[in-house]
Amino acid sequence: MKQYQFWFIVGSQFLYGLEVLEIVEQRARKMAETMSKQLPFPLIHKVTAKTNQEITEIIKEANYDDACAGIVTWCHTFSPSKMWINGLNLLQKPYCHFATQYNREIPNEEIDMDFMNLNQAAHGDREHGFIVSRLRMPQKVVAGYWKDKEVLERLGGWMKTAVGVAVSKSLKVMRFGDNMREVAVTEGDKVEAQIKLGWQVNTWPVGTLVEYMDAVDENEIDSLLETYRAKYDIATQDIKTVRYQAREEIAIKKLLDSEGCIAFTNTFQDLYGMRQLPGLATQHLMAQSYGYGGEGDWKTAAMTAIMKAMGENGNGASSFMEDYTYHLVKGQEYSLGSHMLEVCPSIAAQRPRIEVHPLGIGNREAPARLVFEGKPGKAIVVSLVDMGGRMRLICQKIECVKPIFPMPNLPVARVMWRAMPNLEDGIACWLMAGGAHHTVLSYDVTSEQMRDWARMMDIEFVLIDEETTLEKLEEELMIKDLVWKLK
Ligand code: MN
Repeated sequence: MKQYQFWFIVGSQFLYGLEVLEIVEQRARKMAETMSKQLPFPLIHKVTAKTNQEITEIIKEANYDDACAGIVTWCHTFSPSKMWINGLNLLQKPYCHFATQYNREIPNEEIDMDFMNLNQAAHGDREHGFIVSRLRMPQKVVAGYWKDKEVLERLGGWMKTAVGVAVSKSLKVMRFGDNMREVAVTEGDKVEAQIKLGWQVNTWPVGTLVEYMDAVDENEIDSLLETYRAKYDIATQDIKTVRYQAREEIAIKKLLDSEGCIAFTNTFQDLYGMRQLPGLATQHLMAQSYGYGGEGDWKTAAMTAIMKAMGENGNGASSFMEDYTYHLVKGQEYSLGSHMLEVCPSIAAQRPRIEVHPLGIGNREAPARLVFEGKPGKAIVVSLVDMGGRMRLICQKIECVKPIFPMPNLPVARVMWRAMPNLEDGIACWLMAGGAHHTVLSYDVTSEQMRDWARMMDIEFVLIDEETTLEKLEEELMIKDLVWKLK
C-alpha cells in the first residue's frame, strides 16, 4: 500500500487580528498531530487559509500530489465562503468537512466576546457547509469532538474510503478469457467503468499465462510451499497437485505485477493448456490483497481489490463471494455462501486446510483448494451492477454465524449468514435492486464507507439493512431511476 496522507485545511480570515490567527494555526497543528496518532493515515496541517488565493493554491497542490488522498476542512473561526469557490471548483480529491471545535466545553465563568470570536466553529462551519452544498459537491460531514474515539473512527473510516477512491482511479484488471457464456449480471460497459471509476479492464491470452507457468522453477515452488505450510494445514497426500497450484499462483502473480494489475478474472470455460482451475492459487493471491472475480466477473474482481484496500491495514477481511443456497426453516433462516473454489482465507474462523477434491465442471484435474468456515460477526455483501447508462452499487447488511451444520461432504470454504432485514424480505429487496449472485463480503468495511465511496465516485447507492421494507425500497428505486436519468 502506497504511503497516503490527508491534508488539513483550516478556514479563517484577517478580521480577528494576527494574534487570533496565530492561536488558530497552533491549535490546528496540534490537533492534526494528536489525531494522526489515532487515525489510519497522517493528517497534515497545511494552511490556515485567509484568502481566495491561498485556498486555490493549496487545492491545486492537493490535486497534483499523488500522496495526498483527500482534504479535510474545518473552520475554527468564521471563514467567508466566497473565498472557497474558485478552489473547491478545481478540487479533484475526496473532501471531508470536519465539524468540530477546539474546546469541548463552554467555560461558564470565562466566556466573553473574545472567547466567542476565537471559538466559533458552529458559526464558521455553517458558512462552509452552505458553499459545498451550493456547489453540489459530493458532501461528507463528520461532526463531533476531535478527541472522541467514535469521531476519530468515523474520520478514519472516511480516510480509508478515500484511499479506496485513489486505488479505484488507478486500478487495472487482468482478464483471462471472457465472461461465462450467457451470464448477464457479470457483463457491463467497460468504457463507462473507466470514465466513472478509472478502471482499466483488459484481456490477456490464457496461453501467455501458460508460458509463464512453464517458466516457473522448482525452487520458487518449494519456497511458496513453505509459506503454505506456515499458514495452512496440508490435509492431503497429493503434494503434486498442491505444487501445481503454487506454479499457477507464481505465474499469475508475475503476470499481474508485470502489468501493474491488482485484480484478475478467469473462467472455467477457458483453461486452455492448464491442468487445474486455480483454487488455492487464487485464494492465496486474494490473501495478499489481489482482487478476484470468477467466470470473467471484472466488476467484482475490481470491487474485491478496492474493498480490501479500504479495510484494516490496507488488506482487510474481504472476499469474493457467491450466494449459493438457502436454509428456509422457520426461526433458522440462513443463506449459505461459497464458490466453487475461490474464497479468501482472510475471512476464515480457523486455520484453513488444503484439500484436493474433484471439480464437477471445467473438465480438468482435481484442484487443491483451501477449506474453512467463515467467522461469525456483522458484515456486508456488496454488488456493483450495470443498469444501462449508470452503475448501481448495492450493499446489504448481514450477520454471519457459525454454520449450523458441519457439512463434512462440502469440500469448499463456506460462510453462513442472516440477511437483513430478514431472509425473505432480504432476498426480495436484493432481487428488486438487481443485485448479482457474485458479491464482495466484508467484515471490516462498513455500509457507511460504501455509501461514501459511491458518493465520491458519483454512482448510485442502494442500502438494504434492518430498516429496509419492500415498499420503501420500491419507491426509492423508482425515484432513483428518475434522478439518475436526469443526472
Ligand atoms: Mn460464480
